[in-house]
Amino acid sequence: MNTKTSPTDFRQHRDQQMKQAEELLASVPERLGIGKGLFWGKFVADWIFPYPRLSDAEQSRVDQSLAELTQFCDEHLDPERIDREADIPSEVIDGLAQLGVLGMTAPIEVGGRGFSQMAYCRVLEEIGGRCSATSIFVNAHHSIGIRALLLFGTDEQKRRWLPDLVSARKLAAFALTEPEAGSDASNVQTSAIPTGDGDFVLNGEKRYITNGAIADVLTVMARTPNAGRGGTSVTAFLVTPDMPGFRVVEARMPKVGIRGTATARLAFENMRVPAANILGPLGKGLKVALTVLDFGRTTFGACCTGAAKTCLRLATDHARTRRQFGRTLGEFELVQKKLARMAAWTYAMEAMTTITASLIDRGLEDYMLETAMLKVYSTEVLWTMVNDAFQIHGGAAYFTDRPLERMLRDARINQIGEGANEVLTSFIALTGLRGPGLRLKSVADAAKRPWSGLGIIGRFVADQVAFRFETPGVPVRSPLLRPAADEVSRRIHRLGLAAQRTLFRHREEVLERQLDQERLAWSAMELFASTCVLSRIDYELTESRLPRDELERRVKTAMYFLSMSARRIDEELNGLNSNDDEQLRAAATGL
Ligand SMILES: Cc1cc2nc3c(=O)[nH]c(=O)nc-3n(C[C@H](O)[C@H](O)[C@H](O)COP(=O)(O)OP(=O)(O)OC[C@H]3O[C@@H](n4cnc5c(N)ncnc54)[C@H](O)[C@@H]3O)c2cc1C
Repeated sequence: MNTKTSPTDFRQHRDQQMKQAEELLASVPERLGIGKGLFWGKFVADWIFPYPRLSDAEQSRVDQSLAELTQFCDEHLDPERIDREADIPSEVIDGLAQLGVLGMTAPIEVGGRGFSQMAYCRVLEEIGGRCSATSIFVNAHHSIGIRALLLFGTDEQKRRWLPDLVSARKLAAFALTEPEAGSDASNVQTSAIPTGDGDFVLNGEKRYITNGAIADVLTVMARTPNAGRGGTSVTAFLVTPDMPGFRVVEARMPKVGIRGTATARLAFENMRVPAANILGPLGKGLKVALTVLDFGRTTFGACCTGAAKTCLRLATDHARTRRQFGRTLGEFELVQKKLARMAAWTYAMEAMTTITASLIDRGLEDYMLETAMLKVYSTEVLWTMVNDAFQIHGGAAYFTDRPLERMLRDARINQIGEGANEVLTSFIALTGLRGPGLRLKSVADAAKRPWSGLGIIGRFVADQVAFRFETPGVPVRSPLLRPAADEVSRRIHRLGLAAQRTLFRHREEVLERQLDQERLAWSAMELFASTCVLSRIDYELTESRLPRDELERRVKTAMYFLSMSARRIDEELNGLNSNDDEQLRAAATGL
């Protein structure tokens, strides 16, 4: 059977996706943030420097919440039992609810704690470091389950639904994925047809929905007809399981990891939903979904940071105590290599999570590139780290009486959930290239209009000349960091040039050149990580009151990270010109 897509279908589908992507991207401001700036070879310093800190008042509230949470988790959270029984006991859910964890960022007026994203990330890091199933359950309820309501709900909807959800008397879920709409989220097939009397009738299936069968309120994405202009668009609906036609096909799909979470298959059969349950504007469900996922991806970073800290602790404890060949494992260079990079990545993930969360807290309008970078980076790095910690434990890790076997299974979802990493990698590159691409297109168009286009061409040439000789400033205060900051600055400039060359080389075909997209995206992610690390260590050197030994250790860790990251960026950018892509394509043909 020939399963290849025909060229006509391929083009049609791509054009349709491009149109949808353009509609979505056109609705966000073209303001240059840190992520987009990197693809222009610019550094938008005020997104990263100074390193964001919680106010003293919020810090003390977070400290108190963390102290209560730590005590609760020590006494009641048993990740082995949750994994073994594939269920999070109700006393754990109730306990987290009482601590306010399930409504932490909701406003105080509706019963929440009014925490910032930065503060909430600290809490999720603690849970993620202990039990991934529990942190993903919290994420599904709070980071994405009630997020659409918090962001897009009308006053009436918020009054009606939020108090019960924030207190966790009711649980929430977010239902986007379907058999035909996985990575291609815009391909939602669930239909919502207006009845003419104000209601909608939903028909369709959802799968892989965390909390799907235990939730009392679900944000469901369904396709509605576009009034007047024809066609259909995706709309978000609030759905409750007591609506006739709501069916749980499978309440708990058996799975590899995060077994305590309840992942469901659902069906909607002629299910009537009142128009009052529409969340956000009619036909703008994809915008709702993407905005919600920005929050989920940020807390993903926090959960991964927590898990990374646990990996590092387990690995160092074992490397210090286990002896072979008359030495501890930690005395061997190949073990040190793993430990050092685990420490460096953990430091970077924490800095990236803090800074990304601060972008949300500052009320900036468009941080989808940064949240995607955090998600891909932290989940890829965590996967390597769990594997490293596993390897350091040798055979001992392979048995189920140690946490690493569970952690390995649990970590695997991170690269798939909330956007598969390949899809997000491509998204990062193409979103970053969009601005420079539009500029080059306007110059190319101007070249076809010799007289009227002269102004555009002149400005472009002047900018190009200036750009060749300017490297962006990375404003560290500590003189110790100046050489490393200059190295980062040079590489930002290099990425800007590489982005332009890639656009010149491939033109519109860049949409299909995923191997080059990946190189540019990883260079941008490493630069984002490096600037976050510089910001953090600069703060720690100049303002924090860390004990001297601890500060020295952190400086070494940060320096190693910056050096490792620079090496990776060089590899990625060199790969644009020297690679085996042709052989790869040839080998893949016909498989
Ligand atoms: C445990 C679990 C919990 C989940 N919870 C939820 C939830 O609460 N709510 C919800 O709506 N969804 C949820 N999901 C769904 C999740 O978001 C999807 O699984 C994910 O988006 C990928 O979709 P898919 O599984 O259909 O994979 P597919 O779309 O079939 O993709 C499979 C693989 O193909 C590759 N791929 C796909 N597209 C591209 C591309 N353009 N370029 C390159 N490679 C590509 C990637 O490697 C990808 O991993 C959950 C999934 C799991 C496993």
